[in-house]
Amino acid sequence: MKTFPMFLQMQGRRVVIAGGGEQAAQKCRLILKTEAEITVLAPSLEPELADLHKQGKLNWQAGPICAADFSNAALVFIATGCPATDASLHSLAKTAGATVNVVDQPQLCDALTPSIVDRSPVVVAIGTEGTAPVLARQIKTRLEEALEPRLGDLAALAGRLRDRAAMRLGPRARRDLWRWVFAGPAREAHARGSERQAAQMIKQAIDTGEIGTDQQGAVALVGAGPGSKDLITLRGVQRLQEADIIFYDRLIDPEILDLARRDAERVYVGKAPGCHHWPQDKISGVLVAAARQGKRVVRLKCGDPGVFARGSEEADALNAAGIEYEIVPGVTAASAASASLGGFLTERGTCDTLVLSTGYSESQTANLDWINALRPGTRVAIYMGVGSAAKIADALVAAGLEDVISIDIVSRAQQKDQVISRCDASSLVETIQSDAILNPAILFLTWPQNVTKADATTDKPLLGQLGGATA
Ligand code: SAH
Repeated sequence: MKTFPMFLQMQGRRVVIAGGGEQAAQKCRLILKTEAEITVLAPSLEPELADLHKQGKLNWQAGPICAADFSNAALVFIATGCPATDASLHSLAKTAGATVNVVDQPQLCDALTPSIVDRSPVVVAIGTEGTAPVLARQIKTRLEEALEPRLGDLAALAGRLRDRAAMRLGPRARRDLWRWVFAGPAREAHARGSERQAAQMIKQAIDTGEIGTDQQGAVALVGAGPGSKDLITLRGVQRLQEADIIFYDRLIDPEILDLARRDAERVYVGKAPGCHHWPQDKISGVLVAAARQGKRVVRLKCGDPGVFARGSEEADALNAAGIEYEIVPGVTAASAASASLGGFLTERGTCDTLVLSTGYSESQTANLDWINALRPGTRVAIYMGVGSAAKIADALVAAGLEDVISIDIVSRAQQKDQVISRCDASSLVETIQSDAILNPAILFLTWPQNVTKADATTDKPLLGQLGGATA
């Protein structure tokens, strides 16, 4: 080891940053996470630093710099962006006996800044002694996935309960207790947001000396995103890794299931449109039954669990059974498809209203209710619309809207075999056939603000420039 990792006490200590530009701002952001007192030495400050100075979060010294300015500093960062200035400031700081980090000049550094995973008070620092910063970032990403966002709060809670545990339990029982806290149901309860429940479980274990078990399981309704594995949220991955059993849908990519623990049970409860292989009440029933067995249950749904996913029916069943559940949002197909088009779901002044609708109604016939929402400045994203394309086109024509509405179709958005098409109502059915549009697909119907029924035609690409799209 050429460098040695240490955690420095920063409370109330002086950190000096020389430089007033972006590099200095970066170091400042880092040190602002601590309780150090920051002094910036620079003739002028870029806007972010100036703002922090105005808020009283840093001291600013604009005059000439001498060695004394670096004295008594716990750390000095030299970050002017000019190598020659950096070198001369480095000499001054060394004269003052400071521990110095010079940005991008490892040969002048006494201390190197690590990649940090911050779940304060739990902090992981990763260093490669400057050999492989990309590797450090990859390790950081894996740890960010592995350590739940609320872990720091759990550690802080454990810290507050240490005295109570020390008063009631012997050393061996205490070790067992904390092992149980960080590996068992208390951590899981805390991670899914049930902080009070976790605290009660820990306190009860301390007071009774018995490491309890969470009798009742819990359910997470998790959005898997539009299909590619890197579009599920970190929280979603976390829940998959905790799950004992996963009930998943038809549109879930197998690669996403690979993110779960290898020994987690996987149950397919998919439904093809129109043929309800697994009726909804049966799905709700198995969720309730698994949770009652004390299992951690994930109900994995494509996109967002709150958008055309029958989430409320499952939530009702869980509520009725008194089972706790959590909703983990996901990237819905409309967001994914819009990004695939290189565009934006709303565009200020052009499209200020966004409607999410479905082409398929409760009674398994075409749903055309969205037509009432169409007016200038509106975009309707139609989910499950391919099977009703002919009816959608007829409805637009019957309403006299075929010339004002432009249609973008994105099939399998954000997947390897994504297809993008653009047409109008009169060519919708033909386009779906000729471009071999398959489910799942989203139809965007857009009526721009500036287009009226009378001046119908517009060639403006409606969801931004299609040139930027990934085909
Ligand atoms: N909960 C999901 C929607 C489920 S309904 C979400 O928030 O996205 C199923 C419909 O979603 C499909 O018929 C299709 O219209 C749309 N869909 C899901 N994944 C899609 C994808 N990758 N590309 C385009 N549309 C998709």
